Amino acid sequence: MLAPPSAGFRGLLPLLKPHRRRLVAGGLCMVVFVLSFPLLAWLAGQLIPAIGAGDLQRVLRAIAAALGVFLVQKAAQFGQDTLMAGPALQVSQELRRRLFARLQKLDFNALEKLSAGDLTYRLTEDADRVGEVIYKTIQDSTPSALQLLVVLGYMVWIDWPLALATLLLAPVVALLVSSFGARVMAAAERSQQQVSDLAALLGEAIGGLPLVRAFAAEPWLQQRFDTEIDLHRRARYRTLKLLALQHPVVGFIEAAGILAVLLIGAARIQAGGLTSQGFSSYVAALLMLIDPIAHLTTNFNELQQGQASLGRLRAIEAEPIEVADRPDALPLTTVRGGLVLERVRFGYDPAQPVLHDLSLTIDPGQVVALVGPSGAGKSTLFSLLLRFNTAQQGRVLLDGHDLANLRARDLRQAVALVPQQSSVFSGTVAEAIAFGRPASESQIRAAAELANASGFIEALPAGYGSRIEERGSNFSGGQLQRLAIARAVLGNPAVLLLDEATSALDAEAEAAVQRGLERAMAGRTVLVIAHRLATVQEADRILVLERGRIVEEGSHDGLMAQGGRYRDLCDRQLIRVEA
Ligand code: ADP
Repeated sequence: MLAPPSAGFRGLLPLLKPHRRRLVAGGLCMVVFVLSFPLLAWLAGQLIPAIGAGDLQRVLRAIAAALGVFLVQKAAQFGQDTLMAGPALQVSQELRRRLFARLQKLDFNALEKLSAGDLTYRLTEDADRVGEVIYKTIQDSTPSALQLLVVLGYMVWIDWPLALATLLLAPVVALLVSSFGARVMAAAERSQQQVSDLAALLGEAIGGLPLVRAFAAEPWLQQRFDTEIDLHRRARYRTLKLLALQHPVVGFIEAAGILAVLLIGAARIQAGGLTSQGFSSYVAALLMLIDPIAHLTTNFNELQQGQASLGRLRAIEAEPIEVADRPDALPLTTVRGGLVLERVRFGYDPAQPVLHDLSLTIDPGQVVALVGPSGAGKSTLFSLLLRFNTAQQGRVLLDGHDLANLRARDLRQAVALVPQQSSVFSGTVAEAIAFGRPASESQIRAAAELANASGFIEALPAGYGSRIEERGSNFSGGQLQRLAIARAVLGNPAVLLLDEATSALDAEAEAAVQRGLERAMAGRTVLVIAHRLATVQEADRILVLERGRIVEEGSHDGLMAQGGRYRDLCDRQLIRVEA
């Protein structure tokens, strides 16, 4: 999709392609804008000697012409800025859109590695910074660079020996100015170090005051403190002295540079190589270099920061994405809901299996409770059934089809998840149930009815149109769970994966959720990670999972009588008895 990470900003150029026409129009405006500078410099060359000569006629003509040029220049600048802004913003939008699309396809294990906060930062702050750089490069750096070149070219055209002398002088001035700046920076850093030394001593002193007093060590500590603040004062004074020197020295170097240009200019005029008009134009052009240089320097710094941001965005692309559907993937039509695991072995790190040779057959319509200590591999089993992860050995079959041969979308329509934490997206209640799927109002109502949620939804002031706040904060835990059940049954899945909430609701809410679950489960194959005795007792089969293996299997009574791991879990109340 995007160019390789090493390509930096240049790799984004293909994204500009669709906006060629606007860019060309903006480019034309840019040319007009840039060419106006030498024209203005030339007019300055006409104007200044005319002012000197008191020739009002010529002054008026030059001023009128300059006004006209300024008008055209500003109009061109407006055209350039607006025409270029559109494509620049669209490129950064497209970049963000592609990254988000990539994020949606990312492998879950890769996703877990990148924290949510970090990803949010990348897709907001980093993407903003990259967008800003794209904008600045197109709309500011390009015309500035062109202006620099055109104005320099004009200066060479006026008088190349003078231009050459200026070009030789400029680096000397820049070098002197920046070397002085570096010394000031170094001094500032040293004085900053003194400040943190002082803070460290203060921290130690304040914490240790009782000890100092107990040992009557106040004079000793005062002495240390006095030395430290003396060092601090000296470092600070050195910086201030350098700063005080900076303005006059830099100012002097710059003035000397300008005076040198004047001197060389005078010599060129005397030698007959340059007219006074030409020299006036030259000085005006020289002043026109200041702005683009300043812009280019600032933009260059931003470009470097942007490079780091772009790198962080590009790193997302290096992360693995979900296994794609096979090109010859089978479409799933009617699903009965039979599940088979054949000697499945899986580990997030293949060297450390989480599930070992797990074999299991679940008939359509069967309700199976999965119990076991935390970390046994129950959620991992769910992740295999939804093809979030793929077994390293063995097969997982739905109605006899290997999941690897199905289309993920079909599979996830047939197998629905009710997660432990009933997270819903903000939006209306109806939207939360439909969750992006095309569903009629009556289908949404039927799903809510099944999940025992229609009662509380209809009691809301806006019914199905009521808004859910972020993270469902304006709904109770029990209500959110019932919404999650309605969301799961909306597509009429053949298989339901339930991850029962571990934290207890109050008895009434629990009973309401339970009624919803019972109705939702009817006629489906259900695999439930169970934490409540009532759920376990209603299951057709109980599987006890421990360290990735099924260690016991049977009915509640049978397993209790057996007195093994299951009984142990019940005795340790890892399976709740209440409600
Ligand atoms: P359960 O649902 O029974 O509590 P899990 O399936 O969540 O157990 O976890 C089984 C094992 O796999 C645990 O040792 C857990 O640390 C590990 N595990 C779970 N998810 C990941 C993951 N994304 N990356 C690496 N290890 C994981």
